[in-house]
Amino acid sequence: MSIHLTVFGDPIEHSLSPILHYAFAQQFGIDLLYTKTHASKEVFSQMLTEFYSYGGIGANVTVPLKEHAFELCTKVTDAANLAKSVNTLKWQDEQLLGTNTDGAGFVQDLTVNHHQPLEHQTILLLGAGGGARGLLGPLLDQNPNMVYLANRTFERAINLCDEFDRDNLVPMDFERLDVLDQKIDVIINATSSSLNQDLLPIPDFMFVDSFVYDLMYSETGQTPLTQHAKLRGARHAVDGLGMLVEQGALGFEFWFDKKPETQSVIRALSQQVT
Ligand code: NDP
Repeated sequence: MSIHLTVFGDPIEHSLSPILHYAFAQQFGIDLLYTKTHASKEVFSQMLTEFYSYGGIGANVTVPLKEHAFELCTKVTDAANLAKSVNTLKWQDEQLLGTNTDGAGFVQDLTVNHHQPLEHQTILLLGAGGGARGLLGPLLDQNPNMVYLANRTFERAINLCDEFDRDNLVPMDFERLDVLDQKIDVIINATSSSLNQDLLPIPDFMFVDSFVYDLMYSETGQTPLTQHAKLRGARHAVDGLGMLVEQGALGFEFWFDKKPETQSVIRALSQQVT
C-alpha cells in the first residue's frame, strides 16, 4: 500500500511539492501517494486529524498555515522552535512532530548549489514574515559580518531582531535604506512583493556586484527583483526554486531517514517551469 503524504495550504493549486517528492521517492523505490489539500486556517486542525485517521503519515505545510502548524505540534525540533513555524509534520508514537526546513534549505541552496558563502558577508534581508523568520536562525549560524533586516512594517523588523537578539542583526527602515552607505554582499528577498510584481525600495548602488536571492520562484526562473538586479549590476540573481527543492529534501529525510539527491530534481523542475 502507498505511503500517503500531503501538502496543506491556501492557495495550494500552484504547489510543486508533489512533483519533487515523487522524484525523491523514485530514487529509493518508495511507493508514495502525495496529494495537495486545500485548507484554510479555520479548518486546518480538523483536516489534519482526519488525514491522520485515514492513514496519512506526514505532511508539508505552506502559506498561511506554518505558524498554526507550530502551535498544533506536541513536539518540535530546535529549528522549528527558533522559527516559531513548521513546514514539515510527521506522526510518531501518537505524537505530532514538527520541523522547519526552510532555513537549512535556503543555506544549502545559496552556499552549496550557488557557491555563495554567508560567513563574513554583509547581508540585506527584506521581510519579517514566515519566510524571513524561518531562515534567520540558519543564516545567523553562518556567522555573517552583519545582517540588516528591513521590512515594510518597521515594527515587525524591530520585533524580529529583538527576538533573535544578536549584535550582528540590525533592523532597518525600509524606505531609508540609502542611509546604509556600504557595500552589500548578499541581498535576500523574503517578502511576497514579487507576487504582485512590486519592486522594493532598494537603492541602485546596493545591487552592484551583489548576489541577489529571491525566495519566490517563478515560471520563467526570473522574478521582478532578479531582473531589476541584473540590470543594475548584480553579480548573480536567482529565484527560490533551489531552496524549494532543498527544503523538500530535508523534509523527505525527516520522514524516511533517507537523503535524496537534489541536483537532478532542480534541473528537471527548472526545465518544467520554464
Ligand atoms: P508572509 O505572508 O509571512 O510575509 C510576507 C512578507 O512580505 C512580510 O514581511 C510583508 O511585509 C512583506 N510584503 C508583502 N507585500 C509586500 C510589498 N508589496 N512590498 C513590500 N513588502 C511586502 O509570507 P512568507 O514570509 O511566508 O513568504 C514570503 C515569500 O517567500 C513568498 O513569495 C513565498 O512564496 C516565498 N517563500 C519561498 C520558499 C521557497 O522554498 N522558495 C519558502 C518560504 C517562502 P509586512 O510585514 O509589512 O506586511
